[in-house]
Amino acid sequence: MKLLAYLRSKLIRSSRTFVWSATACVLLILLGFFLAIGYDFYRSALRVSEQAATNVATLAQQTIARDIELYALSLQSVLDGVNDPDILYQEPGLRQKILFDRSATAPGLGAIVVLDEHGDISLDSQGYPVRAGNFADREYFKVHRDAAEDIGLYVSEPFKARLQDQAWMLSVSRRISKPDGSFGGIVSGTIRVSYFERLFNNVAMRDGDRMFLLRDDGTLLARNASTKAKIGTNWKSSPIFSQVMARTKGALVSGKSTDGITRLYAFHHVDRLPLVVAVGVSTEQILAPWRSKMMVLAGIFAVMALGVIGLVWMLEGELRRRAAAEEAAEELARTDSLTGLPNRRWFDETLSRTWDSAVRDGGAVSLLMIDVDHFKLFNDSYGHQAGDRTLVAVAAVIDKAVRRPDDFAARYGGEEFVVVLPNTDRRGAASIAEAIREKIRALLVGHSGTKEGFVTVSIGVSSAVPRSGHATREHLLRDADAALYHAKEAGRNTVRVGNVLPADFERQVSRAR
Ligand code: GH3
Ligand code: MG
Ligand code: MG
Repeated sequence: MKLLAYLRSKLIRSSRTFVWSATACVLLILLGFFLAIGYDFYRSALRVSEQAATNVATLAQQTIARDIELYALSLQSVLDGVNDPDILYQEPGLRQKILFDRSATAPGLGAIVVLDEHGDISLDSQGYPVRAGNFADREYFKVHRDAAEDIGLYVSEPFKARLQDQAWMLSVSRRISKPDGSFGGIVSGTIRVSYFERLFNNVAMRDGDRMFLLRDDGTLLARNASTKAKIGTNWKSSPIFSQVMARTKGALVSGKSTDGITRLYAFHHVDRLPLVVAVGVSTEQILAPWRSKMMVLAGIFAVMALGVIGLVWMLEGELRRRAAAEEAAEELARTDSLTGLPNRRWFDETLSRTWDSAVRDGGAVSLLMIDVDHFKLFNDSYGHQAGDRTLVAVAAVIDKAVRRPDDFAARYGGEEFVVVLPNTDRRGAASIAEAIREKIRALLVGHSGTKEGFVTVSIGVSSAVPRSGHATREHLLRDADAALYHAKEAGRNTVRVGNVLPADFERQVSRAR
C-alpha cells in the first residue's frame, strides 16, 4: 500500500517530460517489436519463394540431365556400332536398324548423324540413303576435330537447323576415333530448343518470372515464353553469372535487370553437364503479400500509438488536475486563515527541513520569536475585532520584512509569530528583528496599555550552527523563547538575542531562566 501511494505521488509530481519520455520509450519498444515482426515476415516471404524457385530449378535440372543422358546412351550405342566392323559392313538397311533402333524417340530429340572426318554425313538415323550435307563448319565439329584428344560429350552452342525448318537446335556430340587414334569424325544428335522451352512453359509462372538454360560459358540456350532475351547471346559479363558459376546450386537477388525488375534467382547446375538452369521470380511479386501485411501492421501500430498517446494525455491531465487540487488543499491546511501566513504546522516542517539542510551544509540558522506586547489589554480595550485587524497588520509587516527566498515567516499561535532565517548569523538576525520591531511601532496603532501608546512587539532572537549530535531545533526554539522572555522583562518593545549555539548552549539557556 505504502509503495503504491509512493508511486502515485511520484507519478503525480513527476515532470511532464518524464511522463512523455516514458511514453515515447514504450512506443519505441512497441515499434521495435512491430519492425521485428515485419522483418521476420519479410525473411520468411523470401525464404518460401527461394525454396519454391530452387525446387523448380532442381526438378528441371534433373529432367534435362536424365533426357540428355538417355540421348548420350543412344550416341554411345551408335559409337559402339561404328567401331564394330561386324555391324559396319552389314547391309545398309540392317545396319540402320542395328545402329539407330534404340535412338531416342523423345519429343524434341532429333536426328542422330555420323559425320566423317571431313564433316560429311556418313550415317543418318533419318534413313538410308543419308541426306546430303557437310557440317565441317559447325562449331561442335571443329571443337572435336581440333581437340588433341577425346573431350567426351560436347554440348554445342545453339544454331539454326540447316536440314530442317530453321528452328533453334543444340547438338550433343562425341568424337569417333580411328583405330590408330586419329580423328575419324563425330556422332551428333540434335535437341530442339523448343524441347526445353516446353519443359519451362509447363511450370506455372507469373508474367515477370523467368526461366533459363545456360551453358557454362554464359551462352543462353533456352528460356521460357515470357522472356524476350535472344537465344545464343552470351551472359558471361552479367554480374550474377560469376556467382552462379561459384556453386552447384543456390539463390541470390539480382540488381535491376534490363526490364527494370529485381528478381530472386534460384539456380541449379545440370548433373554432369556443362549446363545450368536458373529460375527468376520478381521480388516485387514475392513481397506484394508482405507489403499488404505490413500496411495492416502499420495501421494497427498507428492506432495503438494514438491510443496510448491519447490515454497518457488524458491520464496526465487528470493527474495534474488532481495534484493541483491536492496541493491547494494542502496549502490551505498549512495556512493561517486570519493573517494568510503559514501556520504552526508549516513552520514545524520548515524549521525541521531548514535545520537538516544546515546540518549538511554547515550554515547558521536563526530564529525570531515575536510577541505582541500587552495584547490581552488591547483586546480588552478595543475589542477582539480590532485585535484581529491589528494581528493582520502585524503579520503583513513581518511578511514584508523577510525578503530572501528561503526566509520564512509564520503565525506561531495567538499573538505570536516566528521567522526562520537560514544562512543568517545572529547579528544579521538581530538587525532584521530590530527592523520588524521598528516597523510595527511605526504602524502607529494606538494602544493605551503600552508605555509608547502604540502597539509594539518584543522579539527573542536565537542563532545556531547546527551540527549533528549537538543542539537540536528544539533547543533553538527554547533559546528564542528565553530571549523573548528577557525582552519582556526588559520592558517590552525590544529585541533580545540569545547566544550562539551549541558550544555554550546549555549554560546560556540556564542563565536566561
Ligand atoms: P505580554 O506583553 O506579556 O505578551 O502580554 P499579553 O497580554 O500579550 O500576553 P498574554 O499571553 O497574556 O495574552 C495574549 C492575548 O492575545 C490573549 C488573547 O486575548 C489574545 N489573542 C490571542 N489570539 C488572538 C486572536 O486571534 N485574536 C485576537 N483578537 N486576540 C488574540
Ligand atoms: Mg503571548
Ligand atoms: Mg503578548
